[in-house]
Formats: sequence, C-alpha cells, structure tokens
Amino acid sequence: MITGAVRTAGALAEAVVDLAAVAHNTAVVAQAAGTPVMAVVKADGFGHGAVPVARAALGAGATWLGVASGAEALSLRAAGITAPVLSWLHGLDDDFAAVVAARVDLAAAGPEQLWAIAAGAARAGMPAQVHLKVDTGMSRGGALLADWPHLVSLARRLEADGLLRVRGVWSHLARADEPGNHSIATQVARFEEAVGYARAAGLDPPLRHLANSAAALGAPRTRYDLVRAGIALYGVEPLPGREHGLRPALTLRARAVLVKRTPPGTGVSYQHTYTTSAATTLVLVPLGYADGVPRAASNRAAVWIGGQRRPIAGVVSMDQFVVDAGNLPVQVGDEVVVFGPGDAGEPTVTDWARWLVTNPHEIFTGIGARVSRRYQGMPGQESHHAG
Ligand SMILES: *Cc1c(COP(=O)(O)O)cnc(C)c1O
Repeated sequence: MITGAVRTAGALAEAVVDLAAVAHNTAVVAQAAGTPVMAVVKADGFGHGAVPVARAALGAGATWLGVASGAEALSLRAAGITAPVLSWLHGLDDDFAAVVAARVDLAAAGPEQLWAIAAGAARAGMPAQVHLKVDTGMSRGGALLADWPHLVSLARRLEADGLLRVRGVWSHLARADEPGNHSIATQVARFEEAVGYARAAGLDPPLRHLANSAAALGAPRTRYDLVRAGIALYGVEPLPGREHGLRPALTLRARAVLVKRTPPGTGVSYQHTYTTSAATTLVLVPLGYADGVPRAASNRAAVWIGGQRRPIAGVVSMDQFVVDAGNLPVQVGDEVVVFGPGDAGEPTVTDWARWLVTNPHEIFTGIGARVSRRYQGMPGQESHHAG
C-alpha cells in the first residue's frame, strides 16, 4: 500500500487492471481445459497484483495458486488467502518451516531440496506437502529420469518417516505454444514413465500436472489433473492465430504532461536518434524504462493518443518519452495509452512484445513500482496500490 503522502502527490501513470477480465479468462480456461485450474500469480501476478488477481481467479473457479517462491506464497497467506498454493523455486537456506506451517505445497527436484524441506517440516511439526518435479525435456528445473529413482525412493522414505507427503508429480513443457510439435508427445511419454515409476515405487500422488496456458488450451493430452495457467488468465492468447475469447486485463496509461509544436528538422531526445520530418506536435509522456517502457522501444513502438497510434520519437529515457503526434490536436492532460485490450485500436501487449522481440510476460513484469495499480471490475476490490 502506498503512504498517504505518496497518494496525495499522485502517480504519473497507472496500470488499470480489470478483474472481471481475469475472472472471465479463468472461466474460459477452466471450461476449455475441462480440468481444475492453478492460477499462476508469480512475480506479483505477472505485474497485475498477485492478491487481487488470486482473489478474482479463485472467485471464478480456480482451485490452486502457483508462485515461484516461498516469500510470494507467504504474502498470499498474509493477505488471508487460504486456497492451496504451490511454490516451486527454493534455495536450500529458505525458511521451509514457515512455508510448511503456512500450508504451502513445495516443489522438489533434488535430494538436497527434499532433505531441507523435510528438516523444515520437522521444525514445523507437520508433514510437508511435496510435488516432485521431473525433467521431461525442458532441461531447466526437474530431476533427470536417470536421477528419478533416487529422488522417488528418498521421498518414499521421508514419507514413511512422516516428514512429507508426495501430493504431486509434475513437469514443464518447452514448446507448448507449438501444438503438434513432436517434443510435446516426447515430454508426455517421459512424464507417463516418471509417474508410472513413482506409483510402482509406492508413492500415490493424486495430482499430476504438466500444462501451462498454451498446453491447457491446445494440447489435451497434457492436462492430467490440473493445468497451471498464467498468461491466459491475464488475457493474452498463448497460441498464435487461435482465439479463445480471452480479454486483456491490463491497461497501461498516463497523461500528456507537455505538448509543443516544433519545426521540421528538430532532433528529439538523447543523441537525436529521431529528427522531425515536418512541422509536428511533440508530446511528453511521463513513463520511462524505469516504469516498464523499455529503452528498446525507442523509435520502434507506438502509443494511442487522440484516437490514433503515434510513434515513440527518439530514445526512451528513465522517466519519460516523447511521441510524435503529427497534427493531432493533443493537449496537456490528454490520455496516452501504452497498451490495453485493443478494442479501440490501441496497441496491445502482444503488439509490444512483437515490437520488442520478446513475450508479453516480460512486458507485464517490467511494469515498475512507480506505476500505481488501480483495480476495477470486482466489487470490494476497487482500490489503489503501488506496484
Ligand atoms: C510461469 C509458469 C507457468 C505459467 O505459464 P504460462 O505460459 O504463463 O501459462 C506454469 N508453470 C510454471 C512452472 C511456470 O513457471
């Protein structure tokens, strides 16, 4: 929460988050997948605000929450959220006792992690709920199949000691956004092998999960007992060229703080990488790379102003950038939309990801702490808070 003093000063820019869109998207994914949904709210809900997004998704039928770290999980608990939470990235010196005591499930992919989690469970005086992760081909997290038998037998032993319970077996796909790619089938086959091995060794994990948003929507054989949906809940279609009726939830906007008419041949911003070709109106926007408008957007991206898409002129600075508004009748205080749902023609986060050769996830999570978040679309959650 921002302090009274900061609130009085006002934020120069805001991210407006439509929680009704998050709820709608959750329902779309649940319906399309026909499987329970884990709403992935890591990295402060992809920059949208983890707690409001979690509440909206749970209210729309999500049954689990997924986060990267124990600290993220504990902040959901501190907000009073009691739904099941899985946290999947840990250091050996994490406070596992606190996380276990908060009834947060933990992923584990190596024996060192299992031992550390078991020690935390012993301190907490209750068994840890563990989801064993197998590497089926992503080659990032997860135990290799060659190391799986050892991990499974250690988990079995710690289970027998009452220190943990294996509630899940899971993995992550490398190429989920390419339906039909053979690597998905390969990963599914290895996943089946790992689950089969775990069961034969005496584990009885009720939850198998493999799919992210793209797989939940496009690869039915990856759905199992739970799908881990992130980007789709925020309203971005994860599969190129496919439409599921998802609604973008976040609009990044600001107001013009200065407008001026300049002659042709005017160099703009650092190094004058942009020069006006005609008499034009330059508009100053109070958002910079510290706020999530990357420097790579210089002379490459466009924003919505005066009912048109107009280009960013010159280098994006830390706190501000300039737009060449041509002959539009822009005035100080006019709204500038960096990206939004796209309904009026404004750029979308997907446009920005394309312009910057990245994914929407990175654009969202780059939105800085200075940008205030404002919530709408969900009774009881309309509020302001700082990033
Ligand atoms: C971030 C993440 C997800 C969500 O992925 P999307 O493609 O955004 O749906 C799912 N699972 C894991 C393990 C993740 O880290």
